Amino acid sequence: MVEGLRFECQSGCTECCRQKGFVYLAEADLARAAAFLGMTAAAFERQYVYRTRHRMRLRVPRNSLCQFLRPDGCSIHPAKPTQCRIFPFWPELLEARREWNKTARWCPGIGKGPLIQIKTARAQAQQMRGAYPALY
Ligand code: SF4
Ligand code: SF4
Repeated sequence: MVEGLRFECQSGCTECCRQKGFVYLAEADLARAAAFLGMTAAAFERQYVYRTRHRMRLRVPRNSLCQFLRPDGCSIHPAKPTQCRIFPFWPELLEARREWNKTARWCPGIGKGPLIQIKTARAQAQQMRGAYPALY
């Protein structure tokens, strides 16, 4: 487990939304985002979600990495999926200093702000595990 973490998300930054990779959804993420957009969960899923037997993720549009990313940030910010909300306290980043440091090369919030208590970071990582059991 990484120790001595500092993190403070930087206003105006959207780097984490521009990284390659999928945005996975828990059922609660889908329901929250649909309600935020005034859609039914079924309609949201038809339009935005790719579901396999064990996982669900946002579809990736052709010309950007996330269909909710706008120049000024996430257009569903108050209802963004768990993995977006919890970043960078993902289990795989907290468990390995090397991965945390690698992420720090592109996330300008890592290393800034107050020291984060390890139990706070662990609780966030635990939320990730709970939201996406098929991934952990
Ligand atoms: S890359 Fe880091 S600083 Fe930038 S928006 Fe994401 S979490 Fe915040
Ligand atoms: S849902 Fe929002 S926070 Fe998550 S990757 Fe897309 S734009 Fe970024």
